[in-house]
Amino acid sequence: MPKTSELIALKTKGYAAATQGVPLAPFSFERRDLREHDVLIDIQFCGICHSDIHQARNEWSEYQEESIFPMVPGHEIAGIVAAVGDKVSKYKVGDKVGVGCFVDSCRRCEECKAGLEQYCTVKTVWTYNARDNEGQPTYGGYSDKIVVDENYVLRIPDNLPLDGAAPLLCAGITLYSPLHHWGARPGKKVAIVGLGGLGHMGVKLAHALGAEVTVLSHSLKKQADGKRLGADHFFATSDPQTFEKLKGHFDLIINTVSAQMDWNNLLSMLRVDGTLVIVGLPEKQHSIAAFSLTAGRRSLAGSQIGGIRETQEMLDFCGKHNITSDIEVVPIQKVNEAYERVLKSDVRYRFVIDVATLKA
Ligand code: NAP
Ligand code: ZN
Ligand code: ZN
Repeated sequence: MPKTSELIALKTKGYAAATQGVPLAPFSFERRDLREHDVLIDIQFCGICHSDIHQARNEWSEYQEESIFPMVPGHEIAGIVAAVGDKVSKYKVGDKVGVGCFVDSCRRCEECKAGLEQYCTVKTVWTYNARDNEGQPTYGGYSDKIVVDENYVLRIPDNLPLDGAAPLLCAGITLYSPLHHWGARPGKKVAIVGLGGLGHMGVKLAHALGAEVTVLSHSLKKQADGKRLGADHFFATSDPQTFEKLKGHFDLIINTVSAQMDWNNLLSMLRVDGTLVIVGLPEKQHSIAAFSLTAGRRSLAGSQIGGIRETQEMLDFCGKHNITSDIEVVPIQKVNEAYERVLKSDVRYRFVIDVATLKA
């Protein structure tokens, strides 16, 4: 049983949306007492993912069983282990750790056994806006602490700073997984559509994997950044010529755009047997013409974050190649302002909340 001092420590401060679409505001709640395999993490930084905005505004209601308010968003969590349960073997107090988009799964289905917990056929317990196995709402990383089973905690390499590493827990793995799965490597032409939080990680990772990388952004405003991040080429999707020039060109296109766009145009840029992978999750989707796929035996696919094993592999890869996110650190009091700036694409390239500012 945890000591009384630990029980007091589990009182948690955070920021929540009281209901859909309202500004986030201070919110106090309690984390569960430590179980045998639980790790208590002092959260230091939490990235702001566009998914936080979609969910706080209830834009995915059509695709979700329920949206749970008050909602404490945040699934790009980086912090330090503050306490461990009696049977924890993977982590000790003081370790640098992270938590991504989910905190549990059934652990028994074929997908869980294969390390694909994000596709658990029974139930993936999302880090927030979900219910844990006891039916209690989960609350995310816009808060000062979190309790997570050790099997769903990631180790952050020593050489990476916690603020720049936080976005790897969602943006990083969401691009690493499809790049890996669809074989981004030397000799492959890869396009990243949308240079935001996910997109800029895609450019860095695809470049580090040795692929020839092209950014497709809606304008040329971010061209210099794209090149600095590792892109070989940069085109604007607002220019119809782009689709003419790049017809049948790419082996792999990953679309990270958070708004609706014409996927048929993107498919037309794939070479024979090329794949368009959708990772952006706008509220409304575009329809696809059958001809977009039959011409060139093209594939349309989707991908959702990555499993625990692959997320650790990605973190270790980033440690080895010194890859972190380009960030702007903000105090938690500015979270609503940051949301507005993300919606205007005014972020270079990820806002990260300095959780210490919760004490202010
Ligand atoms: P973000 O930082 O806001 O980046 C999105 C980018 O999309 C923008 O930087 C912009 O890039 C482009 N864009 C935005 N509005 C546009 C418009 N109206 N027309 C054309 N392009 C537009 O968002 P993010 O955090 O990277 O997330 C991107 C999407 O992925 C979100 O829908 C999010 O929910 C989803 N997501 C999915 C997963 C998954 O597992 N599949 C994981 C995390 C997030 P340019 O300025 O370069 O055009
Ligand atoms: Zn995310
Ligand atoms: Zn499962």
